[in-house]
Amino acid sequence: MNVKCLIIGSGPAGYTAAIYAARANLAPVLIEGPQLGGQLTTTTEVENFPGYPDGVEPFTMMDDIRRQAERFGTQFVSGIVTKVDFSVNPKKVIIEDEIEYEADAVIIATGASAKYLGIESERTYRGRGVSACATCDGFFYRKKTVAVVGGGDTACEEANYLAGLCEKVYMIVRKPYLRASEIMQQRVLNNPKIEVLFEHNTLQLTGEGKVQGADLVFRKGEPDEEMRHIDIDGFFLAIGHHPNTELFKDYLHRDAEGYIIVDGDSPRTNIPGVFAAGDCADPHYRQAIVAAGSGAKAAIEADKYIKSL
Ligand code: NDP
Repeated sequence: MNVKCLIIGSGPAGYTAAIYAARANLAPVLIEGPQLGGQLTTTTEVENFPGYPDGVEPFTMMDDIRRQAERFGTQFVSGIVTKVDFSVNPKKVIIEDEIEYEADAVIIATGASAKYLGIESERTYRGRGVSACATCDGFFYRKKTVAVVGGGDTACEEANYLAGLCEKVYMIVRKPYLRASEIMQQRVLNNPKIEVLFEHNTLQLTGEGKVQGADLVFRKGEPDEEMRHIDIDGFFLAIGHHPNTELFKDYLHRDAEGYIIVDGDSPRTNIPGVFAAGDCADPHYRQAIVAAGSGAKAAIEADKYIKSL
């Protein structure tokens, strides 16, 4: 299938790119991928996206943006992109190893995925007490005790959310302070159900067939280092994300963490006609509104590129 503009990813960057591309008469095709609505849909409430003074439920917001893209003629395709070939023009994008698209311009908006600590027991108990999404799985831990790992905004948000459901929430923070924004820190520190364990690292999870506890180390490597154990029913990771860009590694320049390198503050990659928007190319801000803005820029650049052909 031949298209002018193909967009990969269904978060704020992808959908916003689609609104702009559709209004520029590029008849965009958007591949929605495995997580419809993107990472935002794993949070509870969006309070900082302009236009929603009372906050908004993330699915509602993403559906609003999607409908806006649909209104101007975006075609949505569900499926996972398994291969690309950016060495030819038009560029090739293959879905599920079967359906091949040829596109004059491609906008990559594949976002980022949750990171795990990398300890063995995390894998053993995946889906049996280990989760990277409090909104998705918090419900299973009503009136129970859980731990959230991390000290950033995500960890604080998840801890607060879980405190609304659970008996008790530990936050396991490796530094002696939280990295989160001031408002999020205050919510955590003022919540009587949350106990922040500063300077703690997780050694392993324990339990018979499911998570029942965690072995921690306090002040690792210091003279007063101490082993500690907490009893928990759930273990939630909130230690950041890595960009979903493996698929493009043979063609696009990426930094050491895998973020796609773009040309200054434009969405242009090292390949003319391939643009990157949102978290897959943003190691710094990683905000829905920033992703949406970069999606708009990518569509404007794609339009310019297509007109130049
Ligand atoms: P961050 O990278 O900001 O924070 C990650 C946290 O996890 C840090 O406290 C970090 O510790 C800790 N961490 C990382 N690796 C490990 C490890 N191996 N073991 C233990 N702890 C670890 O990620 P977030 O997902 O929290 O946030 C990403 C971006 O999204 C930020 O810009 C944030 O502001 C934004 N965001 C905004 C929200 C909002 O405005 N409502 C909500 C959620 C996210 P250390 O500090 O020691 O590095």
